Amino acid sequence: MTVPQKRPAEDLTVTALDNRIAEEPALNGHSNGTNGHAVSSLPALDASKTVITRADPNARAVPTEAEANSGNETICTDHMITVSWTVDKGWANPELKPYGPLSLMPTASVLHYATECFEGLKAFRGYDGKLRLFRPDCNAERMLMSTLRISLPGFDPKELEKLIEILMSVDGPKWLPKERAGSFLYIRPAVIGTQPQLGVQAPKQALLFITASFMPRMDLPEGGMKLHTNPEDMIRAWVGGFGYAKVGANYGPSLLATAEARSRGFGQILWLYGPEGYCTEAGASNFFMVWRTKEGQTQLVTAPLDDKLILDGVTRRSVVQLARERLAGEVEVVERKYTIDEVLEADREGRIVEAFAAGTAFFICPISQIHHRGVDVKIPMGKEGKIGMYTAKLKGFVGDIMYGNEQHPWGVVIQEQE
Ligand SMILES: *Cc1c(COP(=O)(O)O)cnc(C)c1O
Repeated sequence: MTVPQKRPAEDLTVTALDNRIAEEPALNGHSNGTNGHAVSSLPALDASKTVITRADPNARAVPTEAEANSGNETICTDHMITVSWTVDKGWANPELKPYGPLSLMPTASVLHYATECFEGLKAFRGYDGKLRLFRPDCNAERMLMSTLRISLPGFDPKELEKLIEILMSVDGPKWLPKERAGSFLYIRPAVIGTQPQLGVQAPKQALLFITASFMPRMDLPEGGMKLHTNPEDMIRAWVGGFGYAKVGANYGPSLLATAEARSRGFGQILWLYGPEGYCTEAGASNFFMVWRTKEGQTQLVTAPLDDKLILDGVTRRSVVQLARERLAGEVEVVERKYTIDEVLEADREGRIVEAFAAGTAFFICPISQIHHRGVDVKIPMGKEGKIGMYTAKLKGFVGDIMYGNEQHPWGVVIQEQE
């Protein structure tokens, strides 16, 4: 066992995370002791040990997108992956098996203390016929970060990535058939604390599972998405909190405000922070403004990652990088704190160019309005209420990589089991 260096008491969080990482063989050089540390000899997460139990391939027909998204239940593919973990035995062999209910005790940790985290990524059927994931390494690494934040067991993110590939290699050919080029499935990995004991403590049992499902397209709402700023008495995340981790505990409490905004005709909440009213995120998506500065420079601006208030979105990261590479000289890309008052001022001065939300679920979705404390800011869109030019360009860059119109290292091709 690694002896962590003594740290001052104020570094309790850092020390706790270091200790958890030291406990995990997979996080210490992929096999025992390779980096000089004596580490746990418990089995690590290992995708090569996956045990496959196939569903009857004729039992369920693949619905159309419209059918699949019409009801109140998410339609999943034929299979799911589950892997259980215990503090005494480490990670069990992963299982790929028919999709179906999980079995949990009513006393399971997750049901009481929100020991849950998740990821969301998509598999895309390309226009070249290939099946791709988009930057799955980023999702796997982020899930490890979220997992450790809520005291669930660590794992090698490469193994999670391989498990996602296994699920898609089996279910991709049937559920994302070649004749549906331009469509996608939504992949949802999650880890939950399953220990059936009501004591408030780090769970000694956990379950990792992965499903693949349909999800409606949300990137082109009629007339653009409308945002409503959060109610004055509610925030999504706070400095010192866990807004940066994809843990379930961030989402349930935000639904009240979202439902109220929806009933007033808005799509999502624009979450502001602090007395200054810093713009952070739009629902479960990152938020971007395109505006002209007072000096006349066109800027793409988004909230920064420091303070750990916002989620480090894979879409956000990709947009920032591609805008820097491909719109250099045309648009300046700025990650900085900016307030709703700056947005209102830019509106009064006619400097707002466009705005959009970016995330896996909504992809890149144009925003047409922000409502803040009785004031409506109309955001320009393209001609006839269509997507604006910069939003369209950035969406094109990312979409072309996802659907194989551009060969790029971010588009990871899955070998399918036909
Ligand atoms: C998932 C999520 C995002 C988007 O992240 P992507 O990796 O781009 O899907 C943004 N904000 C929040 C709060 C999220 O949960």
